[in-house]
Amino acid sequence: MTALRVTLVGAGPGDPELLTIKAVRALRRATVVLVDDLVADGVLRYVRRSARVVHVGKRGGCVSTPQAFIDKLMIAEARRGGHVVRLKGGDPFVFGRGGEECAALRAAGIEVEVVNGLTAGIAAPAAVGIPVTDRRFTQGVALVTGHGSEYEPDWSALARSGLTLVIYMGLARVHGLVQALGRAGLHGTTPAAAISAAHTPQQRHALCTLATLADTIASQQLASPAILVIGDVVQVAPAWLAAQPRSPSIMCGSG
Ligand code: SAH
Repeated sequence: MTALRVTLVGAGPGDPELLTIKAVRALRRATVVLVDDLVADGVLRYVRRSARVVHVGKRGGCVSTPQAFIDKLMIAEARRGGHVVRLKGGDPFVFGRGGEECAALRAAGIEVEVVNGLTAGIAAPAAVGIPVTDRRFTQGVALVTGHGSEYEPDWSALARSGLTLVIYMGLARVHGLVQALGRAGLHGTTPAAAISAAHTPQQRHALCTLATLADTIASQQLASPAILVIGDVVQVAPAWLAAQPRSPSIMCGSG
């Protein structure tokens, strides 16, 4: 008997051209695909017509399918013997619950294959020319969640670190995040960016400073999903954007 298996596939940030070849192969082979709500529709074009596509969202603030139900569904589908793909936005292992899903599948005796995807925290800044680890400005990058929970990052340690801060799920709490980072010692003039719906036709961005970030996002009505970038690497964006004027951009003062 062949082993039961689920393939956890990262769909990248939106543009289907950013899928890996391995991801496309897994999608073409799939008989059932369990899809997160941040996965762009265009990605599903690689799924066979005969395959079953089940949408199981976990989007913050929306009605979503409980994780335990998703785990049960994956296990049940794998036991039916199909090629099961669990398709997630970005990378399954970056704020994607991929680790938890692997553990649940393995506990049920099911093999897991993981196909990495391009994570929004790298790809969204890159969409406006921001190299998150540019050594002229920083020693590295920290990927953190701004969602707020018991997993609240240690903002003081991050502010002291000099690392580029890339914040996932931070849009709804941006006011609180800016205040927390200010209290933690980050200067209001620190360059900041918000990139919304990166690598999709809806992509928009704002370049400003930590002090003006919340107001800029509100006044420009930047929508979720969005990545926030805080750090000197943001300074690279204007010149890059000037060289390729493509998406509607919002720039504000450095105050
Ligand atoms: N596993 C995903 C992250 C899921 S958490 C990954 O690796 O990218 C969801 C958060 O990801 C969103 O709140 C937003 O902060 C970010 N995100 C996902 N897709 C995005 C996109 N196309 N543009 C900007 N941010 C995105």
